[in-house]
Amino acid sequence: MHDVVLMSGDGIGPEITESVIEVLEASGVSINWIPAKAGMSAFEETGDPLPQETVRLFDRYRVALKGPLATPVGKGFRSVNVALRQQFNLYANIRPAKTLPGIKSPFSGVNLIIFRENTQGMYIGQERHVGIGEDHAETIGVITRKASELIIRAAFDYAVKNDRKKITLVHKANIMKLTTGLFLDIGKEISKAYPMIEFQDMIVDNTAMQMVLNPHQFDIIVTTNLFGDILSDLASGLVGGLGVTGSANIGTTHAMFEAVHGSAPDIAGKGIANPTALLFSAIMMLRYLDENVIADKITNAVHEVIKDDDVRTGDLGGRGNTTTYTKALCEAL
Ligand code: NAD
Repeated sequence: MHDVVLMSGDGIGPEITESVIEVLEASGVSINWIPAKAGMSAFEETGDPLPQETVRLFDRYRVALKGPLATPVGKGFRSVNVALRQQFNLYANIRPAKTLPGIKSPFSGVNLIIFRENTQGMYIGQERHVGIGEDHAETIGVITRKASELIIRAAFDYAVKNDRKKITLVHKANIMKLTTGLFLDIGKEISKAYPMIEFQDMIVDNTAMQMVLNPHQFDIIVTTNLFGDILSDLASGLVGGLGVTGSANIGTTHAMFEAVHGSAPDIAGKGIANPTALLFSAIMMLRYLDENVIADKITNAVHEVIKDDDVRTGDLGGRGNTTTYTKALCEAL
């Protein structure tokens, strides 16, 4: 029996977590779900988007599955995702994008993984107004040797372990010379210890164009926080959209698994959300928990069921909804 903290999240979060729990139950894996509050729903209920009890539970049980959390735009509380990633030093955000059988997408045979530094960079929301009024604002982007080494080594070690051939380090060191320049220098240093892995670096704007033109040239991308955030949504678009890309936030002691997508307020409560992205995140969690046989079993079920036009969700061109898809997955399992 595995103890897993469950944060259902906001928007479509409760619908897709319910689906994933049903599918995992049908797979036969034994999980003790420990519910915890976070995000907008927690804020509305308790006045705190990240209650201390949630922090305590994650600290204790060390593994969490998390639905998307809404973060107010332009005002309001700081991102709970960023807070959790920083507080538990979940330094590696691993985001695979892989073509699925039977799903219409701009390319076939895409199979890339983004390793996004998860605790610093331009993404941490350290901002301030300067002077009087609100007409001048600044943001701070932090890059340290320690955090850069952790994520870049994680990418290389993963490549060696999983028979991946090439790492592309993505940066903007032509302009942000000190910060992403440091990240690039560290990548070049570390790459020398892995002569079996091809290493190249690429400027982020060119990378965005190259990913759209020829995504097959990429195997593993390692990059800083904000670039990884943006490029992973782009990568989702190459394989069918945000409904199918999962992710893992891994640290040395704790790990949290969540979809790449957000709370999708435009479709929340309609019963049409695609739970595959969160399910793929849960599969990454099962592998983290050494449940590889069950992880394979669920992956195979997804590959079978998702081909069915009558069953899969509308974002993938199907005629089904969250319920038809979940039911079919459970039956397949
Ligand atoms: P979003 O990812 O929620 O939605 C973008 C588009 O993709 C929408 O059209 C949505 O309907 C669609 N989509 C997303 N997931 C889907 C799914 N599973 N099935 C079908 N369609 C899906 O991005 P957004 O609208 O920019 O952000 C909404 C909120 O989510 C914001 O508050 C943002 O801060 C938050 N967010 C949270 C996380 C997270 O918790 N890790 C990540 C990204 C955004």
